[in-house]
Amino acid sequence: MDREQRGVTVWFTGLSGAGKTTISQEVAQALQKRAYKVEILDGDVVRQNLTKGLGFSKDDRDENIRRIGFVAHLLTRNGVVVLISAISPYREIREEVRSRIGDFVEVYVNAPLAVCEQRDVKGLYKKARSGEIKNFTGIDDPYESPLHPQIECHTDQETIEESTEKVLRKLEELGYL
Ligand code: ADP
Repeated sequence: MDREQRGVTVWFTGLSGAGKTTISQEVAQALQKRAYKVEILDGDVVRQNLTKGLGFSKDDRDENIRRIGFVAHLLTRNGVVVLISAISPYREIREEVRSRIGDFVEVYVNAPLAVCEQRDVKGLYKKARSGEIKNFTGIDDPYESPLHPQIECHTDQETIEESTEKVLRKLEELGYL
């Protein structure tokens, strides 16, 4: 019999435009090719259904993360590799979710604000600068970077392939793959 797949939550945190979605999608593709059970919970998608109606106050951001963490936990304990892509700016709630899930790998997707703003993938930084949207992480809302992430991707210095490889290698090293 094949060995049971071990579940794990891989949590990508970082500024908007840092590369969370891009890397998590690449990692998902690589794992699916290798026949792993994979789910992606992407912040933008989640906010349209699971956490629809929540805003961007600290309380709402924490609630958003708590709900994502709840689902991630269910999947993880059933042997799925769960890839979370969410800004998740607050350290305390990330730690709370990490300790609840246990099999949890934190990936700090780290690019300087200036680089994220330059990319402005969704045009949100422009809107945040003009005041059209408020409480935007990195502009007029805080981002608390991880103190001890298991993986750090400097996406201003690495190619997408390099960042993806880093994540896959670490998951192997930790025995999840
Ligand atoms: P986020 O999900 O963090 O908001 P996105 O993944 O939507 O960010 O956007 C990141 C952008 O940065 C993409 O346009 C991507 O092509 C680019 N990019 C450049 N280098 C990297 C890298 N090493 N890893 C991830 N994204 C990168």
